[in-house]
Amino acid sequence: MLNIVLFGPPGAGKGTQSEKLITKYNLIHLSTGDLLRSEIAQKTELGMKAKTLMDNGDLVPDDVVIGMIRSKLNSNNQAKGFIFDGFPRTTAQAQALDELLSEMNTQITCMLALEVDNEELTKRLLLRGKDSGRADDQNEEIIRNRVKEYNNKTAPLKDYYTAQKKFYAVNGIGSIDEIFNSLCQKVENIYIPS
Ligand code: AMP
Repeated sequence: MLNIVLFGPPGAGKGTQSEKLITKYNLIHLSTGDLLRSEIAQKTELGMKAKTLMDNGDLVPDDVVIGMIRSKLNSNNQAKGFIFDGFPRTTAQAQALDELLSEMNTQITCMLALEVDNEELTKRLLLRGKDSGRADDQNEEIIRNRVKEYNNKTAPLKDYYTAQKKFYAVNGIGSIDEIFNSLCQKVENIYIPS
């Protein structure tokens, strides 16, 4: 299986690049942000609890997102592979993901990190906020909190995957296709289909 963790701060382009990668490599896209937004749209209890945290740019508790990923992995056990987009975001989530995949006799192939500087990120998120209607993209204070959460809790995952020799950085500035080609080059250097 080809199992990719797409990594990068909010606004790095993970959603856009995930869409292209799933088509090219026939993978299942697992975005915890999208799963949570769908819970909110359906007004479930989980969604209502997550909404306040998400609207402030805070992370949702680990057990909530791990539970959602567990159920998606179980219901897609015939997949060729997965793209994890916005997950894991903490070391506890990364450890849980390793365990879940090992129960399926598979593992993470690589973490691909989209690198974009802070100024460009804020610009992109405020622009996205105009179209996406996402509450957490609308205001600079919330965006700054999301970036802070990322730097404190998520950025250390670089070390987690580096220790496993699975970390690969890609320049996240350029055209969508340029960035996509860089990601594909990495995948093809690393992954040999069985
Ligand atoms: P995203 O769409 O990935 O930018 O996620 C939007 C928001 O959903 C984040 O700011 C968090 O509040 C929440 N969220 C998404 N994925 C996770 C995760 N893996 N762990 C904790 N919170 C998450």
